[in-house]
Amino acid sequence: ARKFFVGGNFKANGSIKSIQGILDNLNNAKLDPNTGMLPLPAPVVISPPSIFLLTTAEKASNGIKVAAQNVFDKPDGAWTGELTVKMLTEHNIEWVILGHSERRTIIKESSEFVADKTKAALDGGLSVILCIGETLEEREAGKTVDVCCSQLQAVVDKVSDWSKIVIAYEPVWAIGTGKVATTEQAQEAHEAIRKWLASKLSQGVADGTRILYGGSVNEKNSGELAKQPDIDGFLVGGASLKPAFVDIINANL
Ligand code: 13P
Repeated sequence: ARKFFVGGNFKANGSIKSIQGILDNLNNAKLDPNTGMLPLPAPVVISPPSIFLLTTAEKASNGIKVAAQNVFDKPDGAWTGELTVKMLTEHNIEWVILGHSERRTIIKESSEFVADKTKAALDGGLSVILCIGETLEEREAGKTVDVCCSQLQAVVDKVSDWSKIVIAYEPVWAIGTGKVATTEQAQEAHEAIRKWLASKLSQGVADGTRILYGGSVNEKNSGELAKQPDIDGFLVGGASLKPAFVDIINANL
């Protein structure tokens, strides 16, 4: 069975003080022991802006792990503004979020670049939360599954071992808008993505890969979403900055 997984993506939010508050809350919370990422006993992964990664990793307890929000696909060198995989692993940052729609759409990262970064991250020993998702225009044109699968195909072309990838399906129109996908819309997309994984990789990869939902998840809608058979957790933005994040982590309780 796939173990429930919850990530908190802080995006470019937070101060020394506010992140300390979030950590105090999470470190002291009673977290569902069934939420986690076997074989590692970590219930939740939080992803602060890069300047806070080290202090967050040092202070996080209660099984909480830390993810970077991006990493470069090349080793140390003349890449102004970038962080390399080795810099993260050397500091015990075990996870990275790649392909977030804000990076795909605003910063214009291509699916090929996301795939190159995914490969570099995995080769260097990181685990990856790989984000995919369609825009409103693409959904209305009936292209949801095609868009998600072509974003995944770019990674399939370069990566064969999917054991350290968690997929996050995040419809762009649901991110930060308060417009959560209905449970039916989310389940339908997750099921289609899983079927596609089975056809492109194997039934084993399809059955074993966690597919998280992201986009306006909060403590009120998380319970219903979590009941869907193909929703294996959440990637949470805005609500991960609030105390109610604990209720989302515990959505199955
Ligand atoms: P919100 O939860 O703020 O909609 O953001 C979702 C997201 O982008 C997580 O990566």
